[in-house]
Amino acid sequence: MDKLKPCPFCGWKAILHTHHSKIYIGCANDKCFTFMHLFETDEEAIESWNKRARVDLENIADHLIEAASEAFEHQDRELLIKSLEECFNNGK
Ligand SMILES: [Zn+2]
Repeated sequence: MDKLKPCPFCGWKAILHTHHSKIYIGCANDKCFTFMHLFETDEEAIESWNKRARVDLENIADHLIEAASEAFEHQDRELLIKSLEECFNNGK
């Protein structure tokens, strides 16, 4: 079985839960609220979580590159912080 990747939004550990004999995966950070809907098996849930973690990271990277180059160009620290906040609130 694949190992669970960390939450793409906050980097915390992801946890596998059982709910009425179905499986779901959620972030361990109770301020993050990232979780996925129910699956039949552990394998399906983990595969889906890890795939999503990858896609989310790619989106975050794209957004960061764009935001960072603008912030660096203007030497604007506040703009960079704002962009980082947007990144990590994405997809909720
Ligand atoms: Zn999280």
